[in-house]
Amino acid sequence: MAKRIIITIDGWSSCGKSTLAKQLAKELGYTYIDSGAMYRAITLYFLRNRIDWTDDMEVKNALNEIHLHFEPNNKFGESEIFLNDENVEYLIRDLIIADKVSDIAAIASVRTFAVTQQQKMGHNKAIVMDGRDIGTTVFPSAELKIFMTADIATRVERRFKEMFEKNPNVVLEDVKHNLEMRDYIDSHREVSPLKKAEDAIVLDNTNIDMDQQLKIALDLVKQPIH
Ligand code: C5P
Repeated sequence: MAKRIIITIDGWSSCGKSTLAKQLAKELGYTYIDSGAMYRAITLYFLRNRIDWTDDMEVKNALNEIHLHFEPNNKFGESEIFLNDENVEYLIRDLIIADKVSDIAAIASVRTFAVTQQQKMGHNKAIVMDGRDIGTTVFPSAELKIFMTADIATRVERRFKEMFEKNPNVVLEDVKHNLEMRDYIDSHREVSPLKKAEDAIVLDNTNIDMDQQLKIALDLVKQPIH
């Protein structure tokens, strides 16, 4: 049997990280973990409960009230995130959440809260986790690290199409602004900013399709870095 490894996929917003992570997990029989969903669910909790996230104490108390877990969806077999036992997988995809998530994900105590849980999920290996700091902070010794990128126009178009299917009122300019803003905040924050791990392999999928990207990644799995 092949060695069970940890695969990390980091990169800019909307460059297909979760698509590739899900494909890989399915092919390899691994668990897929969407770390961004955790930050989004925390953001939902903060907005709903009007938490003042500039107040450290209020943030710490709020985090004590948050329980996150993932469960596979029976219909599609994909995992969905639960916030205090409520399935919030669809609610957290809204632009209202996307608008605030990077500010909240930049808070040190929020990151410690999420990273501690993510590291526990990797205890038995055989996982694919995507995010912004997975190869740098969460699993610095992961056997395979991929850093994904694609040009901004392609990313905006992909995210717009995805959001338009759920909400035909979505505006292209808003989607573009949100991606650029998140990329800026995510790559400039003090704690674990988005950056390529030194030993990560860059995968630019601007001009390749999903099958090609999966093939490239599966070839990389055959020759892990550690
Ligand atoms: O991956 P997704 O776009 O759903 O992530 C939403 C946001 O969560 C990112 O823009 C980023 O601010 C934050 N995030 C993070 N670290 C991760 C994953 C996501 O800071 N590992």
